[in-house]
Amino acid sequence: MARLEASGLRRTLRDIDGPQGSSVIVNGKRMILLCSNDYLGLANHPLVKQAAIDAVSEYGFGAGASRLVSGNMEAHRMLEYRIARFKSTESALVFNSGYHANLGCITAIAGRDTAIFSDRLNHASIVDACLLSRAEVKRYPNRDVDSLERLLKKTRLKKRLIVTDGVFSMDGTIAPLPDIISLLERYNATLFIDDAHATGVLGASGRGTLEHFNISHQNIIQMGTLGKAFGSFGAFIAGDAVLIELLINKARPFIYTTALPPSVCAAASKAIDLVDSDPGLLMRLKERRKQLHDGLSGCGLDTMGSATPIIPILLKDARKTVEASCALMERGVFIQAIRPPTVPDGTSRLRATVTAGHSATEIDTVISAIKKVLSA
Ligand code: PMP
Repeated sequence: MARLEASGLRRTLRDIDGPQGSSVIVNGKRMILLCSNDYLGLANHPLVKQAAIDAVSEYGFGAGASRLVSGNMEAHRMLEYRIARFKSTESALVFNSGYHANLGCITAIAGRDTAIFSDRLNHASIVDACLLSRAEVKRYPNRDVDSLERLLKKTRLKKRLIVTDGVFSMDGTIAPLPDIISLLERYNATLFIDDAHATGVLGASGRGTLEHFNISHQNIIQMGTLGKAFGSFGAFIAGDAVLIELLINKARPFIYTTALPPSVCAAASKAIDLVDSDPGLLMRLKERRKQLHDGLSGCGLDTMGSATPIIPILLKDARKTVEASCALMERGVFIQAIRPPTVPDGTSRLRATVTAGHSATEIDTVISAIKKVLSA
C-alpha cells in the first residue's frame, strides 16, 4: 500500500448518494457525472425500474441456484430471445457480468490446441480469459492489422481465435473490423468481439460495431453487456445455436454460479425494448458526444482519436491526472483519473463518458471547467 501511495497509484472508493444520472451527490454536493457507462441514461429510467419491480412481484428476488440446477426461469429465457433478435443471431446466452461472459466463452472455445490473437488494449477480463484458457496467446499492437496478419501467418496451430474489443474502453476508439474480418477466411480464424461499449451505442439502431461498419460474417462471436447502455446488469454471448449449447455445457462461469435475479433480466429486456422504440435516445447520445468532443478537441486537448462517447483527455502523468480530477470536482464536475495498471505507463488520462441523459447546458459547463482547470 505504501508503494502504491508513493507512486500515485492508490485507489479508493468515492461514496456517492442517490441513483446514477447525469449528476450525482458527492460529499453532499451535486456534481455532473462523466464516469458512468449508463450511455442512454436508462439505469434510472422509470420504465426500466418498473419492469424490475413487476418482476420481483411475479418471480420473487433470487434465482435460487445456477440455471442448470434450479431451473431456467421465464425472465432469463425472454431476455435471451430478446437479445438474439436484437443482435440478429440464432441464439444468445446470458452471463452474470461481462467479466464472466469473456472468461466463460473464451475458456470454453479455446484450449492448448488454440492460438489466440489478442489486441494489446483488450479489456482485463479478456487478458484473464486468455491466461485461463491455456491457449498460445499472441498479443498484437492496438488496432494494428498488419501485425495481426504477420502473427497469423507464422502460427502453426490450426485453431485460431482473434479477440478484440469493439470499442476500446479507455481510448474510445473503434476496432478496424472490416480489415480484421478480411483475414478470417484467409487464415481460417474465428473472431470474438467484446462489444461492451458498442452495444446500444454504435450503429444506426445501436446494434454495435458490426452495424456501425454495416458488415456481417459467419465466423463471429459477439459479447455485449447489459450493465452499460442497457442500464441493468449482466452480459451475453450472441452467436449460433451450437455455440450457445457448447457454452451451456462448458462455460464454467455460467455453470458454477447462481443465475442473475429475474428482475435484473426483466429490466434489461425493457431497456432493449426502449432502445428499439425510442430512436431519440441514440440521437441525443450522438449529439451530446459531438458537443463534448468538439468542445475539447477545439481547444487543443488530445482526445486520443476517440470516435465514441468515451472521450479521454491525455495528460500522461499519473499525479497530474489525479490533481486535475480533484480540481474538476471542486468545480462540480466528476471525471475519473485513469492510471496504470488500467492503462500503460505514461498514458494517464481523464476519461469522460457522455450520456443521452446529459443536457446541452451540463456539457457546456463541463467544457468550460476543463478549459479552466487544464489551462491553470
Ligand atoms: N469488456 C469491456 C471492454 C469492459 O469495458 C467491461 C467493463 N468495464 C467488461 C468487459 C466487463 O463487463 P461487466 O462490467 O459487465 O463485467
